[in-house]
Amino acid sequence: MKSLWLENIKVNDIKKLNKNIKTDILIIGGGITGITTAYELINKNLKITLVDQNLTGHGISSKTTGKLNYLQETIYTDLLNTYNLNTAKLYLKSQRDAIKEVEKIINYNNIDCDFNWVESFVFTDKNEDISKLKKEKRILEKLGVKVYEHDNININLECLYAISVKDTAIFHPIKYILKLREICKNNNIDIYENTKIINLEKKTNYYVAHTNKFKIEAKKIVIATHYPFFILPFFMPIKTYIEKSYIIADNINDYYKTTYITASNPCKSIRYHKDNKNNYMIYLSNSHKICNNINEKKNFDKTIKEANKLNLKDTYIWSNDDLITYDKMPFIGKINNDDNLLIATGYNTWGMTNGTIAGIILSDILLGKNNIYEKIFNPNRHTITKLTKYPINLMNNMIGFYRTKFNKQKTWYPNNIIFTKINGKQVGIYKDNNDISHIVYNKCPHMGCSLIFNEIEKTWDCPCHASRFDIDGKCIKGPSKYNITFKNND
Ligand SMILES: Cc1cc2nc3c(=O)[nH]c(=O)nc-3n(C[C@H](O)[C@H](O)[C@H](O)COP(=O)(O)OP(=O)(O)OC[C@H]3O[C@@H](n4cnc5c(N)ncnc54)[C@H](O)[C@@H]3O)c2cc1C
Repeated sequence: MKSLWLENIKVNDIKKLNKNIKTDILIIGGGITGITTAYELINKNLKITLVDQNLTGHGISSKTTGKLNYLQETIYTDLLNTYNLNTAKLYLKSQRDAIKEVEKIINYNNIDCDFNWVESFVFTDKNEDISKLKKEKRILEKLGVKVYEHDNININLECLYAISVKDTAIFHPIKYILKLREICKNNNIDIYENTKIINLEKKTNYYVAHTNKFKIEAKKIVIATHYPFFILPFFMPIKTYIEKSYIIADNINDYYKTTYITASNPCKSIRYHKDNKNNYMIYLSNSHKICNNINEKKNFDKTIKEANKLNLKDTYIWSNDDLITYDKMPFIGKINNDDNLLIATGYNTWGMTNGTIAGIILSDILLGKNNIYEKIFNPNRHTITKLTKYPINLMNNMIGFYRTKFNKQKTWYPNNIIFTKINGKQVGIYKDNNDISHIVYNKCPHMGCSLIFNEIEKTWDCPCHASRFDIDGKCIKGPSKYNITFKNND
């Protein structure tokens, strides 16, 4: 029950931080964002250190569908509504630049990561979305893109109208990221894994990043952790919401150089993958705001049922979540205009391109170079959406929080998952196949939400900000900094 991308993947040469160190630039997080930033800083006469709480590439980036695509649902219409044609044009250029950069890096380093050019489609089965897609086509054409129109697609899903572009790509994200890890290590970048940063301390001219035992003194820090592990500065919970989706991959006979995505939510997304031995179809569906549908078994079952109709079995099955910003623009750049504290996240489910362009933008900022995209992605930008959407989001956060507290509906769980109190504290108990009970505290250390049990991936998941814990309470995904391991003598 894991992502297709983690099949047969082995990580060698793992080093954990075991002393206090000093560095010029500390990159926290080794997903597509962190590792690309590190790669772009090779040979710049700076001491670069990257740390990851798990293994490089094993976060959100290991559970993506791995499309390198600039045709992103109807994003150019959204950008035109909030901004203007020039901003939409710059965003388009950034995504195309990112695809070219990935191809350049692959070719230069001879990376074997199943990269292929493909035709990408956005389609709809709803009459009301046809005009929306036609508008997207007109905008794209205004921006100079050659767009094709279709009244059906080559897959067994209902389609009333579709548009496509031909110069997009796919790859194996983990093979790519792990090769960048190797290149970085060979070029004197220190990578410490299983090393979690739990606190940042601002000094006059530098920062100190703390693990639970050691300190890293850094002149500049890049937060590439997907969701930041701190609440202030930046206060991410009111600036974004989280969208979760369910994914299935299975072997199929044929391979097609096409990808598909629906024009509106709940999203369906399809791509093919080919490695040395097999062909696969990857099917994603049922995307929703994380706090809305909290019966995970039902969510997975829905996707399994749809995938079965396409003759796919759940050979690989997993879920994944990403941060959605209200203006559909990522946050890439300085936090609160601090030259020494940079962030990149909020990719609206398009982080393979945005994480790549973030690597270029952040490295330019760190090297004191101008970058044409710095302004549009500025995390401190002011938009009208801030005034309207932030209060709504704050309210949704509260509703999500209280839903997890009072909706103790837990009736949908089988008998081996129990919610109860021990010593006055809420706990969750999972009894495994050998009847061994695994007990955890049922409260997310991040902001106090109650957790739900994910029966497919066997994790305790936070339905507010997507922290994840294993069955024994170890935090395997932030923003939580702490475990929820039950201690009998507490
Ligand atoms: C279902 C789904 C499908 C998607 N498909 C696509 C797609 O086809 N194409 C596309 O472009 N995008 C896609 N995306 C989006 C993309 O996968 C993400 O935006 C991207 O992977 C995020 O990369 P990242 O580097 O920011 O985060 P991550 O890959 O999560 O990397 C962050 C790293 O930081 C580490 N970390 C976190 N906290 C700490 C800490 N305190 N200390 C040390 N390390 C820490 C984590 O262990 C992790 O390795 C998809 C997203 C979803 C949800």
